[in-house]
Amino acid sequence: MFKKILVANRGEIALRVQRACREMGVTAVMVYSEADRDAKYVKLAEEAVCIGPAPSALSYLNMPAIISAAEVTDAEAIHPGYGFLSENAAFAERVEKSGFQFIGPTPESIRIMGDKVSAKAAMIRAGVPCVPGSEGELGEDPTINKRIAKAIGYPVIIKAAGGGGGRGMRVVHTEAALINAIQMTKAEAGAAFNNPAVYMEKFLQNPRHIEIQILADKFKNAVYLGERDCSMQRRHQKVIEEAPAPGIPRKLIERIGERCVAACKKIGYRGAGTFEFLYENGEFYFIEMNTRVQVEHPVTELISGVDIVKTQIMVAAGEKLPFTQRDIVLRGHAIECRVNAEDPYKFTPSPGRITTWHAPGGPGIRVDSHAYANYFVPPNYDSMIGKIIAHGDTREQAIARMRTALLETAIEGIKTNVPLHREVMVDARFQEGGTNIHYLEEWLAAHNR
Ligand code: ADP
Repeated sequence: MFKKILVANRGEIALRVQRACREMGVTAVMVYSEADRDAKYVKLAEEAVCIGPAPSALSYLNMPAIISAAEVTDAEAIHPGYGFLSENAAFAERVEKSGFQFIGPTPESIRIMGDKVSAKAAMIRAGVPCVPGSEGELGEDPTINKRIAKAIGYPVIIKAAGGGGGRGMRVVHTEAALINAIQMTKAEAGAAFNNPAVYMEKFLQNPRHIEIQILADKFKNAVYLGERDCSMQRRHQKVIEEAPAPGIPRKLIERIGERCVAACKKIGYRGAGTFEFLYENGEFYFIEMNTRVQVEHPVTELISGVDIVKTQIMVAAGEKLPFTQRDIVLRGHAIECRVNAEDPYKFTPSPGRITTWHAPGGPGIRVDSHAYANYFVPPNYDSMIGKIIAHGDTREQAIARMRTALLETAIEGIKTNVPLHREVMVDARFQEGGTNIHYLEEWLAAHNR
């Protein structure tokens, strides 16, 4: 096992990795930008290194600064968290070339899966069902592109091969709008992801977002830890996640989970990963793979009892997965609410000083957050300041515990979306379960939010 790991991230996930390290008796070296020197995990750190000023480009995305922080502290491995450099193959490569272990898959796996066009091609080869769409990247010829769209059938969605975070997508309903939409998405993708390649998919009308968590070691052992339902989204961004997915027959989940495991073995995948699917009319359609730990990993941890972050570290250190598929038993139900520093209904960011911070507790409640009373939420980064996760024997109990937890939560000084979560938890349709990816936005519109 490693003696020392550098955590190349910020916010709640930096704290999450620090906690895993502590539990394993590994020293976690924390890095921070000038805007993050007061974060909880920095105060708690045995070692911490400032890697630059507030803008991410100069700190959390600054590869030389991060690698030299690992060098000066004698760390052996680097955990990239999520976002920032976590899915950057060039970073993983530099980490390994500099003599550190990257806690994640190989640069090759990241490269293949990071490009949604090559990821889909790899999944088709591995027998994972995909959303019908263009064969690879779209070319320049408008006639051909119109023909492709016609064959798929409108509406279609134009997606950036390098897209992420719900950005770089455009739905097209008619042929008249197609060519312009392709041009616009290309231009945006070029600017935002440094890669103008786009592809086309059938736009599924009322799908749910269901994803499969996998863990694999370098000896080609792989397991899936069931599924998560992340259909409660706003602007293609997840807001509430849960596990298991209400109402989907276990047989279907097992079948798709086994396909994902087989695909991992086929591509020599190692570490934690998530296969994301849209689910409609009893069918799964692969959309993308995330080659890192995800924000919503705790719901899976709570129902499986598996510590995903610790397992990531173990397999990166060259250990074998300590369990097989037969050992994985899912118990109860878990729900996660992402707590964002934002106006709960207008969604404008609300950074600033937190004056009051009372986190909830009690049976089945977990809070992952780097914030505390008197903490200043910097305006420079994502607005998520933590997550509240509730576990219960049943979905009803998990919701009841979440409701109680949200009532106990008191955050003052900044605005948060906690009031929105409180309303959703008592919504009859949400309580029924199985809402599709449009439900939250429809709910917001219906409530004039
Ligand atoms: P990102 O990497 O930006 O998260 P994804 O490919 O994972 O992009 O898609 C994010 C969300 O966008 C999905 O959860 C879904 O809500 C919507 N979406 C993506 N592709 C389609 C599609 N073909 N049909 C309908 N909705 C889609």
